[in-house]
Amino acid sequence: SEKRDGALVVENVSKNFSGLKALDTVSLELRPGEIVGLIGPNGSGKTTMLNAISGAVPPSSGSVTLDGVAVAGKPAFRIARLGLGRSFQNIRLFKEMTVLENVEVAVSASGRGGDIRAEAMAALEELSVAHLAERRAGALAYGEQRRVEIARALALKPRYLMLDEPAAGMNSAETQALMTLLRQIRDKYGLGLLLVEHHLELVMRLCDRIVVLNKGQMIAAGTPADVQNDPIVIEAYIGR
Ligand code: ADP
Repeated sequence: SEKRDGALVVENVSKNFSGLKALDTVSLELRPGEIVGLIGPNGSGKTTMLNAISGAVPPSSGSVTLDGVAVAGKPAFRIARLGLGRSFQNIRLFKEMTVLENVEVAVSASGRGGDIRAEAMAALEELSVAHLAERRAGALAYGEQRRVEIARALALKPRYLMLDEPAAGMNSAETQALMTLLRQIRDKYGLGLLLVEHHLELVMRLCDRIVVLNKGQMIAAGTPADVQNDPIVIEAYIGR
């Protein structure tokens, strides 16, 4: 049985890009079963935070621990194997491969062993896209591709899942359906979800807690109600 009681803890993480402080001593914590939203205006550092946590772009300073294991600076594949999954803002499916092949490749590369096809199909079923298994990924509608990407991340059985704008390009029915699915996945697996999302209504309705970034700094954190009524947050969004 996997240990599921750990947390993803980010402490004082900074990231500099030649003089620009994309992240400036930001801390946040994500527990299993929790959905945390990471919001902020464009360029506030949200994607950089996901990159710093996942190892795609290592932080300049600060610490990231997964279940007590320090991961900052480790290669992305190692951090993934420690239980961190993610999807990307720009969909990164192999467009010429089938949906099933896309997930199988990921399961296979993860080195987890087991019945690769069965695990891939189970993940597709979880996201209600199993009926698309034999379709070419590039031929799917945008919302379907997003679901396949999440299925691919889920197939690796992460304990934490970071999603970068999962509702981008979705209509409101697709967004509602996605929200329901994310809740189901959280409830079923006790996953911790870190969600970067522009769709504020979705964030407010789905998240247990919200962290707000502006210009690389954390300007607010709390429940959706706290954050929604915080004048500093309102100013950051409309005062630009
Ligand atoms: P958000 O996701 O909130 O829109 P980003 O994390 O993408 O913001 O970007 C934060 C800041 O860091 C922006 O000013 C962006 O231009 C800069 N930035 C992000 N990635 C790089 C990079 N690889 N090189 C240089 N600057 C970058």
